[in-house]
Amino acid sequence: MATAEKVMAAVRTAPSTTEIREYPMPEIAADSALLRMEVAGICGTDVKLYKTPPTSSPVIMGHENIGYIAKAGSEFMRRKGFKEGDLIFVEHYVSCGKCEWCHLGQYRHCENTDWRKNPDAIRYGYTSAEKAPHLWGGFAQYVYLPWNAVIHHVPKGVTPELAGLVTPMANGVEWSLFDGGVGYNSTVLIQGPGQQGLSQTVICKQGGASLIIVTGTSKDGARMQVAKALGADHVIDVQKTDPLECIMEITGGKGVDLVLDCTAGAGTLPILLGVDALKRKAGTMVVQGEMGEFPNFPLAKITLKAITIKSARGHSYKACELALEQLASHRFPLEKVTTHTFGLKDVDLAIRSVGGHGVPDVIHASLMPWK
Ligand SMILES: [Zn+2]
Ligand SMILES: [Zn+2]
Repeated sequence: MATAEKVMAAVRTAPSTTEIREYPMPEIAADSALLRMEVAGICGTDVKLYKTPPTSSPVIMGHENIGYIAKAGSEFMRRKGFKEGDLIFVEHYVSCGKCEWCHLGQYRHCENTDWRKNPDAIRYGYTSAEKAPHLWGGFAQYVYLPWNAVIHHVPKGVTPELAGLVTPMANGVEWSLFDGGVGYNSTVLIQGPGQQGLSQTVICKQGGASLIIVTGTSKDGARMQVAKALGADHVIDVQKTDPLECIMEITGGKGVDLVLDCTAGAGTLPILLGVDALKRKAGTMVVQGEMGEFPNFPLAKITLKAITIKSARGHSYKACELALEQLASHRFPLEKVTTHTFGLKDVDLAIRSVGGHGVPDVIHASLMPWK
């Protein structure tokens, strides 16, 4: 590969602003590799990061990355067991490889990837494009893979576009199975029918839940149909019906074992509904809200109902592997979720569409840099 070659990337340069820029093709040392991007999944986090960037540095966004290894150093291949031509999924966490969390496969908790606390942290889709060799995000033709990138083989029979769902599916495994303890005969309330809520639906169904209720708003009509196709037993439009009344009717007054919050921008409402919708004692709620304030937090109810609250924070190595196997099983019609593809020049439109302000009815958007 000639060093004069350039790599095109969509760079976030300011809030809600994207510019196409060129970067030099990186030198690939013996312990690193180069990924030719196929699909970068776009999620609700991208919508937030685009509107209110956590940094003023230019950033190549894209943290849910699938591609082929275009070039790999000999040490990279020997140590990691991958070769040129392999289709892979790259976790956005770039690990230190030494700490306890890394040894547990919990790269999400490694300090090396903690962009909030550690200014030198590397995380795909978050790290400044000013940091050499610049290619730290999936909205680009190529992505740089250092020795400590965490990568997974995409199983045979899984297309890059389908593999683009691995992140929400891995979150589904982590939050509903590992954190929520879903199993045989579990009853679950999933709030929010976006790609994350739909992925949770699939994992809960596969995990053995006997009752899955999905809530959404009036604009979610199409998503609710997909939720049903993926295994939801009931869907509730919270703007048309009182969701708590509905849930209690469905469960014969018992409430549910587990509540998963997959809403975006709904404030304190999903938490308040979750607390009331949980069973009489010892239910679990997995939450992902980041509000700084919660007036009248219902601590007394939570204590008296013996509710366990857990935080939904990304995924472990194991969750990714299980998600990839789930995709490879083709058991659920997940092509109903991968609704839209966009090219590199349409990153702005793609992110806005995922946020509900562009192309209508987007569930999951795949950014395909060569399109
Ligand atoms: Zn994401
Ligand atoms: Zn570590």
